[in-house]
This record gives sequence, structure tokens and C-alpha cells, in this order.
Amino acid sequence: MTHPQKVSLTGIKPTGSAVSVQDGGSVHLGNYLGAIRPALALAADYRCIYFIADYHALTTQRDANALRENVRDVAASWLACGLDPDKMLLFRQSAVIEVFELMWVFACIVATGQLERGHAYKDALAGGDSPNAGIFNYPLLMAADIILYDSEIVPVGLDQKQHLELARDIAVRMNHLYGEGTVVVPQPVVTEAPTVPGFDGRKMSKSYGNTIPLFLPSKALRSAIMKVKSDSTPMEDPKEPEGALVYDLYKLVATPAQQAELAVKLRAGNYGWGHAKQELYEVLEAQLAPLRERYQALRADPKQLDGVLEAGADKARVVARRTLDRVRAAIGID
Ligand code: AMP
Repeated sequence: MTHPQKVSLTGIKPTGSAVSVQDGGSVHLGNYLGAIRPALALAADYRCIYFIADYHALTTQRDANALRENVRDVAASWLACGLDPDKMLLFRQSAVIEVFELMWVFACIVATGQLERGHAYKDALAGGDSPNAGIFNYPLLMAADIILYDSEIVPVGLDQKQHLELARDIAVRMNHLYGEGTVVVPQPVVTEAPTVPGFDGRKMSKSYGNTIPLFLPSKALRSAIMKVKSDSTPMEDPKEPEGALVYDLYKLVATPAQQAELAVKLRAGNYGWGHAKQELYEVLEAQLAPLRERYQALRADPKQLDGVLEAGADKARVVARRTLDRVRAAIGID
């Protein structure tokens, strides 16, 4: 079923250290297959809003230049992967400061106990950290991000479901206190996205150092794929594709016909893991080369990139002001 009128909101956190264009950018294959591709597919059914959560990144990011560069890198990456700024909204969270006003309104109706139960905060405490107040308050900012844009649908992984339930609670409470229709009550949609393994077989993650950056130049991409872990079965022996890391990765990117063909070759023998990796590289290269070209062009022109983000923010601000006008009138600050 399609809901062309419904608004779906996705936040993108620009984290980590700055990564150069030549090193393939900050986004990896796991981000692409597990987050970007499914999030962009939603545009077929919803009016999609994507924002770069730079103020969320500030809870951990202390390097101003890395933050600045990561915002541009993430914007260029999503645009290169197919985000169409004429049909969807893309902007920086920080460009619409109305979000902080709404966050304050919410802070005044949420019990601190609810924030103390937030699992990002509890995890930070359990890890022995002394979390900053930004981490404590982050579910409030997330609720404001969502509700400010009248979002109806918020696609989330299971890990974010609790924070989204808080946003829902806040919206329901606002409407209870100040009248139905003051804000739109968002609905979580738990998305099923694949978990992409890194070249060592563990979940692909920057913290494991096992990522394949999405926009690696062709030669470097091939070298990265050749590092995918495989066993030492001799070339001439038949090989079982199911459960083999190279085949798991291949299944995420190849067509069913290509998958079946590779499985036959592996089971027949006289076909090495190196050959399978070459196939994986070729399929990836065919899909990623046009994206890489767009990414590199966007990264080479930061002015144009900033212009796209500004134009997105101008449109987002119109929605934000409308919501805040409604909220201000309802709470008696108008
Ligand atoms: P991160 O930059 O690690 O916070 O990842 C951003 C988003 O990318 C996550 O919320 C996931 O949706 C997705 N993601 C990251 N790593 C993977 C992976 N190995 N497999 C699938 N999805 C991933």
C-alpha cells in the first residue's frame, strides 16, 4: 500500500574522523546496504525528509573540522546514492534552530525518570562513562526533530525503538495537555535491513576496522574485496557457497541469477575463492562506479553542496515555523 501523503523522517548522524575522498569517504558498504538504500527506497511510498543530525554528533564529536567535513561528506554520499533534492528534503539539523525551542517545550513536560531510563544513557553509564547532559537529553532532541516536521512515519532499527516511543509519548501528552491536533503523533516503523559483514566476517563497523568504504577508487576497491576472509580449500576442490563470507556479501549485491550462477561454479570445483572475489568486485564496481563519480563531483564543489543543503533548510523551516506557531499558540506563548 502506498501513502504518498505521509511524511517519513530519517536522521543521519555525521560521526567519526574526517575521511578523504581518495580514501573512499566516510560511508561504508554496510551503511549503504543497511541504511541508505532502504531509506531511499521509502521515497516510492512516502514524502521523505532526511536531515543530517550535526547537533546530535556534537555529543561525542570535539573536532570542528571533522564535523564540518563529515556533514558535507554525508550529504554528498546520500545525494550520490540517489537522494533527489527536488523530490525529497535534505538539510542540516542545525540550520533549523526552531528545533531547540520545541525541545525546551518538551523538556518541560517530560519526567527526568523517563530520560534516566533511556538506554543510550544507561549504556553510557554502564560503560563507566560520565555521560554529558547532551547524551542524557538526546531523546528530547530526537523527539523535537521528529515532531517539528509533522512526521508520521519514522523508520527505525530496533535499537532506536525506545527513543521513538518516547517521542510518541511526548506527542500524545502534548495533545492531551494542550488539545488534540497540537502536534502530529509519529509512528515507528521497524525496518528490516540486512546486517552487512566486514571483510573479517564480523559486522562491518568502523570500530572493528573492517569496513569497505563505499567510494573507494576502483583499484582500492578490488584490493579491499581481495581481503575478504576465505578458507584454504584447494582451487580444484568443490566449495560450499552457503555460509562463505564472499558469497554472503555477493548475495547482498548480485541478482538471483548471478547468485545461482556463482553457486554452481563454486560447487563444481576448479574455481577458487579468488575467482569468486573477482566476481564480487565486478558486480560491486558496476553498481558503485556511477555513484562514485557523482560523489567525487559533489565533493569537489562544496559551494553547490552547501547550496543544496540551504535550499532544503529553507523548505524545512517553513514546516517548522508552522508547527511552532501551533505549539506556541497552544501553550500560551504567542
Ligand atoms: P554508524 O555510522 O555505524 O552509526 O551507522 C549508521 C547506520 O548504518 C546504522 O544506524 C545502520 O542502520 C547502518 N549500518 C551500519 N553498519 C552496518 C552494517 N554492518 N550492516 C548493516 N547496516 C549497518
